[in-house]
Amino acid sequence: LAEARVEYRVVTHTVPPRTRLDTIQLARELDAAIDREELVLHYQPKVHVRRQEITSAEALVRWRHPTRGLVMPNDFIPVAEECQLIDRMTLWTIRRAIADQRALATRGHDLRLFINIAGQLLADTAFVREACDLVGGSDAKLGFEITETSVIRDPASAIANLQIFADFGITIAIDDYGAGLSSLAYLKQLPARELKIDKLFVTQLTSSNRDPLIVRSTIDLAHALEMEVVAEGVETHAALALLTVMGCDMVQGFLISRPVVFDSLVQYLEDGRHR
Ligand code: C2E
Ligand code: CA
Ligand code: CA
Ligand code: CA
Repeated sequence: LAEARVEYRVVTHTVPPRTRLDTIQLARELDAAIDREELVLHYQPKVHVRRQEITSAEALVRWRHPTRGLVMPNDFIPVAEECQLIDRMTLWTIRRAIADQRALATRGHDLRLFINIAGQLLADTAFVREACDLVGGSDAKLGFEITETSVIRDPASAIANLQIFADFGITIAIDDYGAGLSSLAYLKQLPARELKIDKLFVTQLTSSNRDPLIVRSTIDLAHALEMEVVAEGVETHAALALLTVMGCDMVQGFLISRPVVFDSLVQYLEDGRHR
């Protein structure tokens, strides 16, 4: 049976790529879905290791599709990026996160809520202006996660726009670090306060010889640049223990919590468990 499962998985990976028509259809549905409030944010807490408390959470978007069920971001974000819907979707996300952050603060949970920002938006002047309007009009504590590769296309405008966001009090985190090829000199130019180590390195931390060295030197490098380090994809107690010894500042992963709906996040904060 196990073999049959592996076989099946291999087969599903050979399904032909989305056709033009599929993409257009999905884009049309997504366009309508944003207005119909079919999108929903799930939140995954980040735990500060030394303080032993949840200081922030990451918003991860899902699409509650009327017939396809819960659609995961990897299945529609690429279409949103390709079909110029990502700006509108992200503005919706920022609005939702601001409301959720205020609701949490009112209940005494002053977490910073992080939003994933696609690289192309860092070169989109209209998006930057609208995002600043939203953020400037509220005192919500927010953060933006950007991948290290997203700055490469147009570094000058990306860095300038990240600085604008940082000046609005938004914490900038570099996401998926290690997956690309960024150099130290390049990272130094970004107004980033957090470095998130890609889960690829974290999930293999205790089973490979090479990854502990990469993670260790990344933590030291980030600290030298006065950034805090977040390890994503923490799934085991062994990984958590090793990261703690290495001086990792924050951890995030299934060991602590899966991404959950807002009400479950509140529940988790208030009695440390899910309903
Ligand atoms: P990401 O930003 O790297 O998010 C981390 C992904 O890893 C999430 O998948 C999360 O559910 C998953 N994850 C969390 N903890 C663990 C763990 O312990 N083990 C493992 N194996 N996985 C873990 P998800 O929610 O499917 O999101 C996938 C990607 O979609 C995200 O990767 C992000 O790049 C993108 N995404 C999600 N929401 C948004 C959004 O609002 N805007 C944009 N532009 N992209 C988004
Ligand atoms: Ca647009
Ligand atoms: Ca992220
Ligand atoms: Ca990541």
